Amino acid sequence: MAEPRSAGAMGTEFPYELGTMCYIEVAADGAVSQGADRAAYQRALAGQSRLFAVWPGNYRSDLFAIDDLDQYARGMGWVHDETRTGLADHEHQVRWQIGEFERNPNGTYISVDLWLDCGCTIRDLRAFAEQMRQQRGWDVATSGGYSGVGPRFTVRARRRSLGPQA
Ligand SMILES: [Zn+2]
Repeated sequence: MAEPRSAGAMGTEFPYELGTMCYIEVAADGAVSQGADRAAYQRALAGQSRLFAVWPGNYRSDLFAIDDLDQYARGMGWVHDETRTGLADHEHQVRWQIGEFERNPNGTYISVDLWLDCGCTIRDLRAFAEQMRQQRGWDVATSGGYSGVGPRFTVRARRRSLGPQA
């Protein structure tokens, strides 16, 4: 028998948002439930329960204690984390054009070359997509990935959501 490993000790290497991660909540009275949401996070913060996760691997799976709740909330995207996402919590200064290699510029989704003049980088596409949705109404596809290391990046987005080029 072994103690659960520490998710907190892994820092940002722990993939909190991994779709196949199995979260387990153990309430103070011993009741066990599966899943992770903000309510479970609040209960853990209040000391009413403890959270664990099984991180599935190819040959074995390990049990982790979710022992750094701040990191957990950042990892789940519930609290903005500038270091992890590369993105400041501000209005980005964005210039963009239709992607240089886009062959179908009239398609529903097109590739977009953009420059983050504010100095931010994209390390977390979901976080960037959410910010751009709020700031400019962009519909950035999160399934298609992105490229670039900054200040220039290429993402895919719904053409009609982009508005006038600037
Ligand atoms: Zn920025």
